[in-house]
Amino acid sequence: MEGRRFFVKLAALFLILWWAVAGVASNALMAAPATPVFATAAQLTKSAESTVFALTLSHGVTAEIFTLDNPYRVIIDLPDVAFKLPPGTGDKPSGHVKVFRYGLFAERKARIVIETTGPVAVASAAMERAGKKDAVVLKVALQTTDAATFVAGMAKPDANRDDSGGPDATPATPPGSGKSGGKARPIVVIDPGHGGIDPGAVGSAISEKDIVFSVGERLADVLRKGGRYEVRMTRTSDVFVSLDKRLKMSSDFEADLFISLHADSILEAQFAESVRGATVYTLSERASDERSRLMAEKENASDLIAGLSWAGEKGNDEVRDILFDLMQREISNFSADFSNLLVAHLAKNIVMSRDPQRSAAFKVLKQTHAPSILVELGYMSNSKDQQEMTTAFWQLKVAGAIKAAVDQYFNKRTTVQR
Ligand SMILES: [Zn+2]
Repeated sequence: MEGRRFFVKLAALFLILWWAVAGVASNALMAAPATPVFATAAQLTKSAESTVFALTLSHGVTAEIFTLDNPYRVIIDLPDVAFKLPPGTGDKPSGHVKVFRYGLFAERKARIVIETTGPVAVASAAMERAGKKDAVVLKVALQTTDAATFVAGMAKPDANRDDSGGPDATPATPPGSGKSGGKARPIVVIDPGHGGIDPGAVGSAISEKDIVFSVGERLADVLRKGGRYEVRMTRTSDVFVSLDKRLKMSSDFEADLFISLHADSILEAQFAESVRGATVYTLSERASDERSRLMAEKENASDLIAGLSWAGEKGNDEVRDILFDLMQREISNFSADFSNLLVAHLAKNIVMSRDPQRSAAFKVLKQTHAPSILVELGYMSNSKDQQEMTTAFWQLKVAGAIKAAVDQYFNKRTTVQR
């Protein structure tokens, strides 16, 4: 119940924010989507083996479905859908479902959160024609699974297939071409740090900006090869890009995952040869430790190095901060989830730092729309690290490990589109 109240409040706050921001200036926000989409009914149907959640929508949209644990939930992300559901919808338990709630989650993003009685798997998901004009019914069938399978997020091979029958059933994951303007593939934004006038950490033979750019390109390559993702980069050459610009690009690209690549260095020469390895950072206002705090401070100074002042980001700050608070509640879960996967995959391939999972207030991670992490791939100040990081072999290993983590992360998600 607490959650429901929170969500209602959240939705109300967003409405207020919407008006406030739209009223001030932004044309971008006022650019309404082509056709407003309404949700007019939501139902649960239980059978011996599954519980089916059915949502009637005035038009087909792209839905992204994934699971979260602790507590067990199924999340359905939709574009800008207005909920016109009778009061009390979602309050009663049925089958595998305790309750579900719905509302605006972010700018032009709606969300349904289904709380389940235990670990469940999405057995099928499809959008079927509902008979009336453009109306569709999104059907998501949930089945019991064991906790291990749930946590591993290993979608069954047929999890994306529609097995509900019927001539109008649409396969759940059509490749490419979203007629509805929705996204067919997850968008991964790769952010090679520094560039141009800002070299980042400088090693004896090479700069951080060159290593992270090279790794970024290799990562983009392996991600694109599978055809499963759309890949964008915040820089495609040796050019300076401000941190604000990187954040804006991530938002403009509609990132589903943001990966910032960096390489560390320490000032204390006496520790240079003993401190090495990769570290994965997520965002927190308070750093996990002093070294992480300094690290974030150093990375945040990128704009100053390039001669930019901090001014210019003032105006939007308040709105951004409020949004930030609200969004962080879910976004930070996803970032932490990806961080876990990434550390596990990197550790199988390269040397990790002594404490490879940390957090600090990195500006580039202050994203309201996408889970984001920052990897310090190794230490420029360590001769072994530096030597390794420059080799194609090492860079390919890292790209492969990051891809494996990205795959596992998105395996937890099912996309349905009509
Ligand atoms: Zn850096």
